[in-house]
Formats: sequence, C-alpha cells, structure tokens
Amino acid sequence: MSEVNKVLAIKGMRCASCASVIEKKVGKVEGVKSCSVNYGTEKAQIVYDPNLVSIDKMNFEISKLGYSMSDLSGADKVLDNTGHHSLVLVDSSPITDPSLTSSTPRHSMSTSSSGKDEKLIELKNLRSKLIVVLPVSMILFVYVTYDILRMVLAFIPITPIGMDTLNKFLFLISSFVMFWAGKPFIDGVIRFIKYRVSNMDTLIGIGTLTSYVYSSFVTLFPSVMTKYSLPTDTYFDVSIVIIGFVLLGKYLEARSKIKTGEDIEKLIGLQAKTALVLRSGEEVEIPIDQVVIKDIVIIKPGQKIPVDGKITEGYSTVDESMISGESMPVEKKAGDIVIGATINKQGTFMFEATKVGSDTMLSQIIQMVERAQGSKAPIQNLADRISSVFVPTVLILSILSFLAWVGIGSLYLPFSKALSLGLVSFVGVLVIACPCALGLATPTAIIVGTGKGAQKGIFIKDAKALETLHKVDTMIFDKTGTLTKGTPVVTDVITLKNDITEECILTQAGSAEKGSEHPLGDAIIKKVSEKNLTLDKPEEFEAIEGKGVRTRISNEEIIVGNLRLMEESNVDTSTSQAHIERLSGEGKTPIFVAKNFTLIGIIAIADTIKDEARDAVKALHKMGLKVAMITGDNKRTANAIASQLGIDIVLSEVLPGDKANEVQRLQEKGAIVAMVGDGVNDAPALAQSDVGIAMGTGTDVAIESADVTLLAGNLNRLIESVKLSKSTMAVIKENLVFAFAYNVLGIPIAAGILYPFFGMMLNPIFAGVAMAMSSVSVVSNSLRLKAAS
Ligand code: ADP
Ligand code: MG
Repeated sequence: MSEVNKVLAIKGMRCASCASVIEKKVGKVEGVKSCSVNYGTEKAQIVYDPNLVSIDKMNFEISKLGYSMSDLSGADKVLDNTGHHSLVLVDSSPITDPSLTSSTPRHSMSTSSSGKDEKLIELKNLRSKLIVVLPVSMILFVYVTYDILRMVLAFIPITPIGMDTLNKFLFLISSFVMFWAGKPFIDGVIRFIKYRVSNMDTLIGIGTLTSYVYSSFVTLFPSVMTKYSLPTDTYFDVSIVIIGFVLLGKYLEARSKIKTGEDIEKLIGLQAKTALVLRSGEEVEIPIDQVVIKDIVIIKPGQKIPVDGKITEGYSTVDESMISGESMPVEKKAGDIVIGATINKQGTFMFEATKVGSDTMLSQIIQMVERAQGSKAPIQNLADRISSVFVPTVLILSILSFLAWVGIGSLYLPFSKALSLGLVSFVGVLVIACPCALGLATPTAIIVGTGKGAQKGIFIKDAKALETLHKVDTMIFDKTGTLTKGTPVVTDVITLKNDITEECILTQAGSAEKGSEHPLGDAIIKKVSEKNLTLDKPEEFEAIEGKGVRTRISNEEIIVGNLRLMEESNVDTSTSQAHIERLSGEGKTPIFVAKNFTLIGIIAIADTIKDEARDAVKALHKMGLKVAMITGDNKRTANAIASQLGIDIVLSEVLPGDKANEVQRLQEKGAIVAMVGDGVNDAPALAQSDVGIAMGTGTDVAIESADVTLLAGNLNRLIESVKLSKSTMAVIKENLVFAFAYNVLGIPIAAGILYPFFGMMLNPIFAGVAMAMSSVSVVSNSLRLKAAS
C-alpha cells in the first residue's frame, strides 16, 4: 500500500480551534491516516491512501464547515515501506481550485506567492469593512469610556447625550454592522447549531448576537420589559465595538502574518525567470519552468544561472554566496557543477541541465524551509490541546457565569440588576476567552525563526529540531573537516632505513593511496605531484576503514596507515617511538609506511584548524555547553589539537562505525547531544544525536541527512544557529505565558469576580479590545525575532 504525505493549503481558518476542528473532521475520513493542521502557516500535512480517498472528498467534508483545501505543489512525496522518499507526479487526485489546474505549471515555485495573493485579498476585504466599522467603534469606545469615567470621577461633566438615549439610534447602525461586517460571526453561530463545530467566530457570534438581539427586543418591545420588570438597558455599543475591534485585531494579525513569511519569498525571489537554451541549434529564451533535463543552457556575463547543471564548455567564476554563503566567487570550468540562482561573473559558458523544476537545489531548500515552517514544535502540543477544548469550555463557563448571577446574584441584588449583570458577564466571558493568542504563540515564532535561519544559510529541518537545539548541553564535533579545514598537508617525511630516500617513501605511499578517497591519501598524492614523482601502478588495493590502506606493488606488500593497522599487521614500530611522540605532540598525524611488514618511514600530516574554531568553542562554553571532539585520529594528536582549542572531552581512535555508539554513551549519561559533522560519513552519528548538524562545504550539501544544515563550513554559523534556537524558544515561552495569563486573568474578571468586592464589572467592549490586542501583541513579539541578531 502506498501512502501519500501531502502538504495542502487550507483556506477559511479563523482561529486556532479551526485547526483542531479540521484535524478531527479530516482524520475521521476513511483512508486518512493522519492530519496535522497548522493555523500559523494555514497548511495541513495529511498522510492518506490515494486509493481510498481523494483530496476532493476531504475538501467536500470540510467545505460544509466553511473551509477548503487546495493542492500546493505538483509533486507528492510517496513513502514506501523502506521509508525512502521518491518523487512521483500527481495523477489521480483532482485539484479543486480551478486556478491551480490550468495556469500554474507543475514545477513552478510560485505556490507561496499565490498564497500571498490570497492573503492580500483577504486583507483588502478586511480593510474595506474596517474603514466603515472602525470609526464608529472608535467613537463609541471613547464615548463609553468617558461615560464610565464620569461615574467614577466626579469632576468630568456629564455626557451630552446619555447612553440610554444614544442606544436607540444605535439600533440601526448596530443592525448594519451585525449583519454586514459581523456576518462571519453569525456564520460561526449557524455552523455551531448545524454541525456542532465551534471556533472563535462562534464565541464572538454568540456574544454579539446576544447583546444585539436582547437590545433590539428592549428597543422594539419596551412594554414587555416593563410589564415583567426586566432590565431595559441596551447593549448595541457592545456588539458594534466588539465587532470593530475583533476585525481590527484580525486585520493586524493578517498583516503581520504576511510579514512572517517574507524570508521565504526572498528565497523564491532568487529564482531566475527565464533561461537561454539551445533548441535545434538555435538560442531561444524560454520561461524557466520549460527547461528540461539535458537542455543546453547558455550563460552570458552577469547572468543568473536558471537551473542546476554541469558545465560542458567555457570558463568563468560564479558568485555562489546566495546558496553557500561563501563570499568568494568560485571558479568554474567544463565538468563542474553549477547551481540555479547563483550569478555568473565575467565568463561565458554552456551547461547541461541536470536538475530542473522542483528538483533544483533552490527548490529543495525552499521546500525544506516551507516544511519546517509548517511543522509543529513539541511545545505547541499543550497549547493545541488546550485550544481544542477551549471553545466548548468557555461556552459552558459563560453560561455558568450567567446562571450564577441570576441565581446567586439575585439573592443580594434586585432581580433585574442581577439579570443585566448576568448578561454582561455572559458576553464578556465569551469574548475575552477566545484562544487566538494561544494558537498564534508558537507557529508565528517558528515561522520567523526558521525563515531568519534560511536567510543566514542555516537550514532547520523542523520545529522540533529548533526546539531541541536550545536544550543541548553537549556539542560533539567531528575533527576532520569540521574543526579543521579538511585539507590536510604533508609536513614531514621521515625515513627509518638508510637505503631508502624520502622520495621513495612518498612514492610507495602515494602509489598505495591512489585508490583511496581519504583526505589523508589525497594529501600524500598532492605532495607526490608537487615533487614531480611518478607513481607505480598497484596490483591490489584494499582500503581499511578508519585505519589505512593495503596494496601490492611489484609483488611487494605495502601497508600505509595508523598505529593500530601496523599492530594488526604485526609491523614493529617500537624503534620510532620518539618520532611518534614528537609529531603527535605537535598535533600532526603520523602515517606509517611499511614494506613487506617492515616499517620504512613515517609521513606526518597536519590539517589546519579553522580560524574561527577557537572562538566558536569559547562561545559555546559561554553559553554553558560542554564541547567534545570525536575522531579516528590517534589519541596524542587529538589531544594536542583539542588543547589548542580548549575542548573538554576528547574521543579519539574511534572507528567510523563506532561514532554513533559514542554519542549514545554520552546520551546514556544524561547528556543532550548535538553532533556536528560533514554530513556524509558521519550520518549514523548525526542520526543518533538529539540534533544532527551537517556542515556543508561549498555546494555538496547533504540537506536531507541532518536536522540542521549549515551551508558553507563556517563555525560562526553554528553559534548563530544555537542563538537562533535560544531566542526563538524564549519568544515562544513569552508568547505562551502571555496568552495563558491573559485568558486566566481575563475570564474571572469578565465573569464579574471583582463585583462583589469593588462593585466593578468589566464592560464587554473592553473584552473585545483586549482580545484583539492579545493576538496582535503575540504576533508582534514573534516579529521581534527578525531584528534580533
Ligand atoms: P577522522 O575521524 O578524523 O575522519 P578516519 O576515521 O577517517 O578519521 O581515519 C582515522 C585514522 O585512520 C586516520 O587518522 C589515519 O591515521 C588512518 N587512516 C584512515 N584512512 C587512511 C588512509 N587512506 N591513509 C592513511 N591513513 C589512514
Ligand atoms: Mg572523517
């Protein structure tokens, strides 16, 4: 059975509890395995079996509730049983949004910007309503505030027209506001009655409708009220001001939400629009999404490279800073790889397209960032669970509050006074308790945090990785290529036999290393070619992982490698003890060369430590982390390097396959471990660690393998990523505390807990203002992350 894991755009969500309503509804549909909806990004991640259910069917189910879903990308990620991802094109699932079927090319990356267009339309709609409703609300708000102050502060003159008189005029205005601008809230109430699903609109709808209907009744049938000696107060101001301010809150929220997604737009903006390709011998300019694999693309000076490919002809330098973060332009000649979105300098060249559309590196990066932004951080679970039960709970609380006023309140107060206080508390609780801020607290911060990371060349796989990173207490570095530059050079060649020259040792070792892909082997071969020595052709070759190489040349057995390999091959190294100690004490790696099981020489190889490594270790210490280094190199060399850098824990002579075990051992001691490696041969250790951080060098990035990928091998970026995680989590915690505190304090006050003590009752219009402001302040707090360094 094949399962499809799809990210779909969701429209029509009004608050965080909508997300859980959709999750429940879609989750119940047959064939759907899981559904996770993110209110912050307005996207759903759905795992389903396309043989049993289509997007159309799921869309139909939620359309009854006022939502819709539409396809985002042209490609599906199919998870087969082995867990590998493979890309297949959509076929069966019909796309419901007609604008997406015809005009949008399958591979285009315009999805996010079209999402933005929709948001802009929504923003415009909100604005046109606000222009009418907000001034009325503002005037009323000031008027009511004045009216309230007048009762407290004796020196303020009485309002020219009392609220009671004014309210009669307000009947007309209020009817208009309620049924025009307030229509979504009325819809929320209708949905609640019809399908028993509720969201923030339901709460606002019940609250405003109650005040409106009650007040209208009082205005239209005053005789009925007096007959039963019921309160004749009207609350038109309440429904107008609440609708006005809730709309204002929605508007500001929508506006800031667009801002949170700006970083990804910058990435999309890197994409070239057209490409100059060779088609049947002629140069033609075509839109980028029409470039196919094997197309020959022509690049002129100063041009942006449209897709990924391999140079066939020509020479140039290319500015790859937008992808790798490395500011120095990179030389490119035939056979070299070029990446879409990078910029050619002076030269002209042609290249064959190898990756187009959604397969290009830039598309992959964008998809990864989008996925990360849509993912849920574990810290959000609590907020989600609370908001899903919040709306029904609030409804019950508001009814209880009403009943308490009428039941208990009327024992101490005249019945009509108790009834009107009950009504006020009912509306106030409904309005103030909306869980909006709670739903926005985490996702908005995650969007800004991951987007900011992407801008700096820090790619975070998901919200969970971002969250875990701030808890890490031990950072393990792979030595070669991570702390060091990974381009080791031969520093000393020592002969141990009088009849063998240094050149001879280099030749023997170089010939043995010919088939090796190890950087140490490369260093030896480089030295050989510098000295213009010719290599022999080995007859046999065997690479011994983490130890060295073994080969046969002209019937002689040559072994090149570390001490362990020599011991295992019964090569006596006792005579060279002094050399070993001296070389490794200097941080150099001694490589032994043995011929027919006799040691003939030692080659010392040293790798330069990255310039910023010392400061990076210092910065980590400052943040309270323990720093470890793990390497296959010998203990003495490793210790020498570690002490230069101030590293706390040295794990040396570790075979490649054992690195993951070492990580696990630290974890068993209670450490939360981040492993920093080059992402290729360190994959198991990266996977074992709590956060795997891959340092991509230049362009060959293993984006998929790690939780965090740092483009370009600069360690400063690592420090930045830890800081980013810490600041994002700090913002999330502030948001959550604020959102919780607001609701926890707001509800009892709205219910009238202060009345028995101080005679104060919260006017529901202040509940409306507070609820609007709480969402806005949470989103603004998240946007603060953009400015933080
Ligand atoms: P690291 O953890 O630093 O990447 P490796 O596990 O790749 O190191 O190798 C560990 C040690 O094994 C090296 O320091 C070196 O002494 C020896 N070694 C491995 N491969 C080779 C080789 N091709 N030639 C010589 N020595 C080698
Ligand atoms: Mg290595």
